Parts: sequence; structure tokens; C-alpha cells
Amino acid sequence: VSEDEKTEDYLFKIVLVGDSAVGKSNLLARFARNEFYPNSKSTIGVEFQTQKLDINGKEVKAQIWDTAGQERFRAVTSAYYRGAVGALLVYDISRRQTFESIGRWLNELQTHCDMNVVTILVGNKSDLKDAREVSTSEAKDLAEAQGLFFMETSALDSSNVAAAFQTVVQEIYNILS
Ligand code: GDP
Ligand code: MG
Repeated sequence: VSEDEKTEDYLFKIVLVGDSAVGKSNLLARFARNEFYPNSKSTIGVEFQTQKLDINGKEVKAQIWDTAGQERFRAVTSAYYRGAVGALLVYDISRRQTFESIGRWLNELQTHCDMNVVTILVGNKSDLKDAREVSTSEAKDLAEAQGLFFMETSALDSSNVAAAFQTVVQEIYNILS
């Protein structure tokens, strides 16, 4: 194998953050295993899951970290964030309170991660149309003001789940390659 053909190794650490029960663990379960847990408890969380993605014809590994429910106690440790180059900042479109927490999670990311950690704001549970408490345009405005990518997803019906992870990994790749 010549130098040119040698596959480079890309391994990006990505963290899931956001209030309890917004669907972080289910986004990861849907993305990595195509599974969904209708009544999941924090115990389904794995420490991290490694997922291969194809970016510009290159194999990129995303090491995606999930909490074990410690966000309930505002006790996500700096070890969780260490070395992260990407983040999915998740809220629940049907619970306004989880959207009000975005600022606090952004502070956490800025405190513990490298300044330019690639972040996507994710409005999960887009399937709960009748229960919506946060409009798409309001979230889009916040994302724009904070320089974040933005997408609404549903771990239940799969919509935009892969796209959200793909967006973050693609952008990290663009920056680092
Ligand atoms: P986490 O605490 O942020 O990890 O949230 P979980 O992934 O454990 O999900 C909390 C609850 O929301 C569970 O009962 C899930 O089944 C439910 N849930 C997660 N994602 C969705 C979604 O996209 N749509 C709906 N309707 N429910 C979801
Ligand atoms: Mg969880």
C-alpha cells in the first residue's frame, strides 16, 4: 500500500448534552443501532458508542458519548467533555423548559471544550406535533445568533437523526482536513 492509498484514521469525539428526558439516549440508539425505547430509563445509556460514517469517500469514526443520567443533577463532569470536537445540544420541542436550558448547556460546552467545538442545536420529538411548545423559527433564530447548526429530529420516527450526526461530523472533517 502506497502512502497515498493508506487510509487515514479519523476519530472524532462527539458529546450529547441537554436536559434529562429530551431523547439523547434514544437519538444515539436510533443512529447507532436503529433501535427505540418507548419507556427508556437513564440506565439504557452506554458510555460511548463508535459509529463509522462515510465522509467524502473516507471512513470517519464518530465516538459518541452519552450521559448516564447525571444531567438530572447538573453533574456532568469535565471528563465527559474532554477532547470533544463536536456536540449535539438537544432539547424537546414539546417541553419549553428544555429549550430555556440551552444557554446553560452552551456555557458548559464553552467552559469544558475547545472553543470551536462544532455544535448542532437539535429539537427532538418533532413527531409530537400537537404538543409543540417551541416553534421552528424561534429555535432557528437562536441557532443563528449562537452560530450553531440546527435541525429538528425524531428518534421515534427516525426523521433527521442520521442527518444531525452527519452534519456535525462533516463539519469537523471540513475544519480538520
Ligand atoms: P435522555 O434522558 O435525554 O437520554 O432521554 P431518553 O432517550 O431516555 O428519552 C426520554 C423519553 O422520551 C423516553 O420515554 C423516550 O422513549 C422518549 N423519546 C425519545 N425520543 C423521542 C422522540 O423523538 N419522540 C417521542 N415521541 N418520544 C421520544
Ligand atoms: Mg439518557
